[in-house]
Amino acid sequence: MTKPEKNQNSVIEASSLQLYTTLANWRWPRTYRGKIMFVAFLGTHIPLLSLLAMAILHSTLPREGKIQVLLIALTATLVGTATTLFLLNRLLAPVLLTAQSLRGYLNDKKRPSLPTIYSDEAGALMADTMQTVSQLDDMIDYLSGYDALTGLSNRERFKEQLAQTVTKAQRQNNNFAVMVIDIDGFSFINTAFGHSAGDQVLSEVAKRLGGCARECNFLARLGGDQFALLHLDVVSPEDVVTQAQHILAEFKRPFVVKEKEWRGGASIGIALFPDNDSEGTHLLEHAESALRAAKEGGRGNYQFFAVENNEKLQYRLALGNDLYGAVERNEFVLHYQPQVDSVTGLIGGVEALVRWNHPQRGFISPGDFIPIAEATGLIVPLGEWVLRTACTQNKAWQDAGLPPCVMAVNLSARQFCQPDLVEKVVSILKETGLSPEYLELEVTESMVMDDVESSIAVLQKLHSHGIELSLDDFGTGYSSLSYLKRFPLHALKIDRSFVRDLTEDANDAVITASIIALAKSLGLSVIAEGVETQEQSDYLQDHGCHKLQGFLFSRPVEANQCARYIQEHALQLAA
Ligand code: C2E
Ligand code: MG
Ligand code: MG
Repeated sequence: MTKPEKNQNSVIEASSLQLYTTLANWRWPRTYRGKIMFVAFLGTHIPLLSLLAMAILHSTLPREGKIQVLLIALTATLVGTATTLFLLNRLLAPVLLTAQSLRGYLNDKKRPSLPTIYSDEAGALMADTMQTVSQLDDMIDYLSGYDALTGLSNRERFKEQLAQTVTKAQRQNNNFAVMVIDIDGFSFINTAFGHSAGDQVLSEVAKRLGGCARECNFLARLGGDQFALLHLDVVSPEDVVTQAQHILAEFKRPFVVKEKEWRGGASIGIALFPDNDSEGTHLLEHAESALRAAKEGGRGNYQFFAVENNEKLQYRLALGNDLYGAVERNEFVLHYQPQVDSVTGLIGGVEALVRWNHPQRGFISPGDFIPIAEATGLIVPLGEWVLRTACTQNKAWQDAGLPPCVMAVNLSARQFCQPDLVEKVVSILKETGLSPEYLELEVTESMVMDDVESSIAVLQKLHSHGIELSLDDFGTGYSSLSYLKRFPLHALKIDRSFVRDLTEDANDAVITASIIALAKSLGLSVIAEGVETQEQSDYLQDHGCHKLQGFLFSRPVEANQCARYIQEHALQLAA
């Protein structure tokens, strides 16, 4: 019975390596070349020397004759050995060169350069090494430059291509455009249908974008739900507009996810070369900043990079730098805005709103710095400071004999995801001595809908400690009713944008009334924010909104002023 070939091979390999193994263990000569030379030296000298010894011992030649023979034999042996060693050394070159090339590839990623024309074993060793390494290198190159899910180039490859395009365009005086395309509402797919559905949508998007791409385009997936397209040879900005519209139209067709139709959209940011950056080094950032502007401008749209965007970007970067250490430097203050009970007229609560007293720029609104603090992670220490300060303040008011009220504190998305959030809140309550029923945490729809199940778990833990929870800016995100029922909420806060045009816009009036009705049907309290006029207040009261918050009653004010307001208000009502 014949053994499998693989076994035979390994037997051959193992036995053929025996001599090598012995030599490899020698301390001297150290190198492989030295060992071969040494073996050759021994091989050529031992037989010759033993023959010579025999000849001299048994010969009848006189002493001088013997010395002469010895010298001739020695010289001939040395010359012969030197020639053999020289030739052997040269014959070893393929093995040594291959080893050197492989080491060069391993250390410096230098592709080997070996001859491939020889067909014997040593020649095959060099040729096969060349081929194997270049195939391997191509594969590594492919894997490191491409996105595994969509097969498109990745961010690194896109940047390389962009740099090459800039050089070429500078030389040839060409115009080109960078487009960054982002799927609107993509996180919903992951949340609602799971990550495999998200992957399916991304692959489909890559296909559709590929369908929109022309020969002069280079397409890549930058990461997450962001794609980029290099539009070469742009004749006029209208060219780019046409393509952007084409892409947006492609996104209007529904995506089929788990047998359901999902209508996503896309936002596109565009930067032009050389108009927006003649050096070409910031084009991608410019396109990304234009994308942010497109998103802020209402999604489903494209936006060209504009200098104002860049100024905004510079401002954001500067604020981001200044934010570091701002908590420690005591640059933040809390202002408080009362919430009035629409039935009793009492102040049932106040909302803590943070302000940044910047040493050079003065007061900066949270709308400007909260997103930066969120992006940089600085929101975590800042949020903790806000929570501690607000709880301390509320306890101080209670200790001073003011009518007790609930302190509402906004949580940011990043804070909400902190694994120790509940412990932190509970420990701050303990530290400040504030009873949990006087703390209300405000979360937003987008925050809790991102990962519904873990949000429910966190909210339930907070609720079990007796802390109240409200859903801020309600109506601006999306909430599924089935989820709303499962969140242990205490209140919904109607977003200011609905309240603002309540008395002029019939739609807003209907939406507001529906939110109030919805909250009631779910057994939740409802607060309207941004109440500025008596008409708005009357409408909200008539529709049974429980609490009202807005400039009509008080702007957000500093602690002492808020305390006076609470006191006077309680006295007025009592009188
Ligand atoms: P928000 O939580 O929805 O807060 C309500 C915002 O509406 C506040 O803006 C408040 O000053 C403003 N407002 C209240 N009544 C009226 C009104 O009648 N008319 C008008 N035009 N505006 C009114 P502010 O203080 O600029 O805060 C903006 C947002 O910044 C807040 O929106 C909240 O999302 C965030 N924020 C503020 N403080 C904090 C904080 O400590 N932590 C976190 N994570 N976010 C905060
Ligand atoms: Mg709020
Ligand atoms: Mg709000």
